[in-house]
Amino acid sequence: MTPEQRSRCMAAIKGKDTKPEKIVRKYLFSRGLRYRVNNRKLPGSPDIVLKKYKTVVFIDGCFWHGHEGCKYYRLPKTNVDFWRHKIAMNIARDYANGVDLRLAGWKVIRVWECDIKTKVNREATLESLYQEIIGTEHRSGTYGSIPNGTSIAAEPNFPYGDKKN
Ligand SMILES: [Zn+2]
Repeated sequence: MTPEQRSRCMAAIKGKDTKPEKIVRKYLFSRGLRYRVNNRKLPGSPDIVLKKYKTVVFIDGCFWHGHEGCKYYRLPKTNVDFWRHKIAMNIARDYANGVDLRLAGWKVIRVWECDIKTKVNREATLESLYQEIIGTEHRSGTYGSIPNGTSIAAEPNFPYGDKKN
């Protein structure tokens, strides 16, 4: 391999500066948002960190993060158990990182790579991402939300302030 090929290969392996990430960053920048990238001090090294909005964004590759029902998520025909296990571990880690970040007060938004790769979805995905970052949109969400049935947020019936003298 030439040095150039090798560095491209390494970049692909590490998943750094993949194309969809660049598209998202460029778009957010064009909308006036400023951010830091690949913050390794935060759980999961979020792809984009918007401190002003206390928001982190992950752009998840559909294969590695197991995008159910997505055409980019096809397990290889060999070593199926290995891949299944590996991707299940990734999903579990994503989930745990999301919980840690939320507990630390961050808003966590996950974007599927296919929604950026696919031109028909791109514009709507980017616009809705922007709205979600600046906080005007509250989506029940196909991404960015904790899986159904799990809640670490409010406990509405917890008797805070119920203590009378
Ligand atoms: Zn996908």
